[in-house]
Amino acid sequence: MPILVMKFGGTSVANLDRIRRAAKRVGLEVAKGYDVIVIVSAMSGKTNELVGWVNETSPLYDAREYDAVVSSGENVTAGLMALTLQEMDVPARSWQGWQVPLKTTSAHGQARIEEIPTDNLMDKFGEGMRVAVVAGFQGISPEGRITTLGRGGSDTTAVAFAAAFDAERCDIYTDVDGVYTTDPRISDNARKLDKIAFEEMLELASLGAKVLQTRSVELAMRYNVKLRVLSSFEEPSDEAGTLVCDEEEIMEDKVVSGVAYSRDEAKMTLVSVEDRPGIAASIFGPLADAGINVDMIVQNISDEGTTDMTFSCPTDQVARAEKALNDAKEAGTIGFEEIIADTNVAKISVVGIGMRSQPGVAAKMFKVLSNEGINIKVIATSEIKISVLIDRKYMELAVQALHDAFELEKSA
Ligand code: ADP
Ligand code: ASP
Ligand code: MG
Repeated sequence: MPILVMKFGGTSVANLDRIRRAAKRVGLEVAKGYDVIVIVSAMSGKTNELVGWVNETSPLYDAREYDAVVSSGENVTAGLMALTLQEMDVPARSWQGWQVPLKTTSAHGQARIEEIPTDNLMDKFGEGMRVAVVAGFQGISPEGRITTLGRGGSDTTAVAFAAAFDAERCDIYTDVDGVYTTDPRISDNARKLDKIAFEEMLELASLGAKVLQTRSVELAMRYNVKLRVLSSFEEPSDEAGTLVCDEEEIMEDKVVSGVAYSRDEAKMTLVSVEDRPGIAASIFGPLADAGINVDMIVQNISDEGTTDMTFSCPTDQVARAEKALNDAKEAGTIGFEEIIADTNVAKISVVGIGMRSQPGVAAKMFKVLSNEGINIKVIATSEIKISVLIDRKYMELAVQALHDAFELEKSA
């Protein structure tokens, strides 16, 4: 029988009623003749609570134990979803990551999926099971420890299963009815897109649009998974949601197609580092070893042999970054006067495939921000995106102003 993957995010399984509603949707697909792999997130708020407990217990925690705690939210919803389906007379059972087994790297807290053997689930489908409910976000390392795939990782679990089982489609059910030109919670003018290109979705996701985890988009692109984002609260329809697809399938022709923001950015400055060959390597090497996701980097002009080095990273990695840098300083591999961490910044980005061939987008973006009196702290560009760091208090204003200026509420 053809296989379908259906993923339900936190708000779609937030309580028993919602789990029942989601299970009904699964039942509809089973009735159509699909064997279904359901991927569930933890109930909304649960993972944040678990992360909070870990941080309170141990600020520079052992990441293996972080994963042991934080992965547990998904175990509860997987079991409850299987029970709910059984109550509806749909043959179902739950699987935790290690039972599949979903094999990952040992990069705890941000592990990558290496392999999903299909035989265990296929055997059960062969025996008449119609739904495999799999706990999202979690796997098992080569050392036999529980791993997690980074926040929002259930999306990636879903796409990886769709690829491994050659599913007909991967439907991501969430609390909005598709991918918008920007977060509909920030701009009333945000417009739902019927289709979005993989490359654009990839940029939007990596720049903060948490509707899909970045890695899930990468996998969908690589394995050509038919990926759809839709609401678990709206009536089922074949036309619903947003299809993430190849560029060639998109009719719209806009220079900028979306605005993304990331609230949880920090700007770190190393003051007075020695300006010599190899200095960047000796700063960013230890940061990479400590698992810090460094994003933007700026090196100031040199003044009497020293320079300031600024970079951005997620706010929750600041303590770890500071430790890595101070350790390197103590070991004598780098020298600096002080580290200044500014945790009151946000990153705003405009994204569009059309930028490849159209100059002037950066200039327009800077003008719009300047008209609003917003100071730009750091700039980074790539072929299809421009990002700036600004004071967090202007984040919403900047998103709305850019969305309006690039007329994203209108379709092209
Ligand atoms: P889930 O729990 O279902 O995984 P998430 O909270 O991770 O849901 O992702 C859905 C949220 O993503 C939406 O509620 C919305 O606020 C946010 N979001 C950010 N940018 C966008 C966008 N461009 N389009 C749609 N949603 C977006
Ligand atoms: N529950 C995890 C999180 O909140 C994974 C997910 O929902 O995708 O990050
Ligand atoms: Mg999510």
